[in-house]
Amino acid sequence: MTDAPPILIVEDEPKIAALLRDYLVAAGYRVETLGNGALAVDWIRRHAPAAILLDVMLPGEDGLGICRRVRAFSQVPVLLVTARVEEIDRLLGLELGADDYICKPFSPREVVARVKAVLRRTAAGATPAADPVSLDAERFDARVRGRPLTLTPVEFRLLHKLAGQPGRVFSRSQLIDALYLDNRVVSDRTVDSHVKNLRRKLAEAGVDPVSSVYGVGYRYEVPEPDVPG
Ligand code: CA
Repeated sequence: MTDAPPILIVEDEPKIAALLRDYLVAAGYRVETLGNGALAVDWIRRHAPAAILLDVMLPGEDGLGICRRVRAFSQVPVLLVTARVEEIDRLLGLELGADDYICKPFSPREVVARVKAVLRRTAAGATPAADPVSLDAERFDARVRGRPLTLTPVEFRLLHKLAGQPGRVFSRSQLIDALYLDNRVVSDRTVDSHVKNLRRKLAEAGVDPVSSVYGVGYRYEVPEPDVPG
């Protein structure tokens, strides 16, 4: 057995906790579960888990309070689990410092993939990979591996906002604030269409750092180094 720090599941529905535990254990992780929020912050302080799957609605103390208090002393990856997809936008607006958001009902396979991704990102954060995308906001100059990328001002601002905090998920409404300086009313679909154009231009330049986070918004990740062949 391994001494690696465990993944902590804070979930008051025993069936969901057991399901997540089974899948994470099958994926090779050590797992601890708590069914009450009141014990969570103290537990996290004492055990320093590798990542936390944190339900929002909990007895004792809710996931939002736990996330806030944990962020005061730890950068441990937190995946907030909510029962309402409409709530995610509000959660993002609260700037809780969560690393990802998962909506019930979820596929356990998907949750395992998201846990792996968040662990990979935070490990990558310790030794940042070189980003082939470089931005000069004063000159509105975007480059991929030194070669200029022609973007509209809106696309540039979008890329600048996303790339400014790699790994962070931005909701569409947060991106709208970055895109337009004149407070105009813009639909989510307009954001999607700018993101689509931006991603096409990046793909033509050989990178794909912007990904869509289902039901939530978008995130930028420093691309993996090229694999030869
Ligand atoms: Ca719950």
